[in-house]
Amino acid sequence: MPELPEVETVRRAIAPVLEGAHLEQVEIRDARLVRPFDPIIVAGELVGQRVAEVGRRGKYLIVGFESGRALLVHLRMTGSLRHAKRGALADDPHTRAVLRLDNGSDVAYRDVRRFGTWELFEPGELAAYLAPRLGPEPLGPLSAARLGGRLDGRRAPLKSALLDQRTIAGLGNIYVDEALWQSMLHPLRVAGSLDETELARLHRAIRSVLRKGLERQGSTLRDYALPDGAYGTMQDEFRAYGRGGEPCERCGSALVRIVVGGRTTTFCPRCQALPG
Ligand SMILES: [Zn+2]
Repeated sequence: MPELPEVETVRRAIAPVLEGAHLEQVEIRDARLVRPFDPIIVAGELVGQRVAEVGRRGKYLIVGFESGRALLVHLRMTGSLRHAKRGALADDPHTRAVLRLDNGSDVAYRDVRRFGTWELFEPGELAAYLAPRLGPEPLGPLSAARLGGRLDGRRAPLKSALLDQRTIAGLGNIYVDEALWQSMLHPLRVAGSLDETELARLHRAIRSVLRKGLERQGSTLRDYALPDGAYGTMQDEFRAYGRGGEPCERCGSALVRIVVGGRTTTFCPRCQALPG
């Protein structure tokens, strides 16, 4: 599932294509993308809009229009964007929507599992929608103390608290496992129990794994690709995620796989021991 580095990589690639362009034609092939709204009505609302800016909050892409409206795109499991010159996009049964731009480009939204969503917001509505759903950006001016404040008093396992987008925005299973390995914290630690040193380590690790993910243009495991079809290479940097049974690169112990809050979780039982 695309997490912050994957979504931000897509944003950086697609922004120069979309920004300043008018949507000439909009075809929404899959009603599920915009439900409960009628895809024909939504497409009609989008035609003629001019893109002012492509932004991101957490794992959401935000296509902001000059009219003040905004299209909130959530890629969920397998959503991705592709772009090509007009008429040059490959035929693809997983294409759910196509935007034809007045600058000679087509942008396709592709989604194998079809969990992705597009929601159109009227001017001024988006901030109020996102505020209760998303905590601060981990690569923004987030201090270790503020991260500590978000975890304070929480009885949930640390892993679950970090996956909760209201704690901080943008983390998913991959980058949480990587950040916990790097900061040597057990995924089942009580979220509110970290001392100052541990918080500083976690804060540093979260920012470091996300920056590495951005540098490597995200991780391609199944369907994630950049808008030009290229793949990310962060998967080559994984120290914990998906490596159950393999030796820990720090201590050589076999990494262990458990389930936390319904999510497969891989960690080192020695480096990330629970406090006694
Ligand atoms: Zn280890």
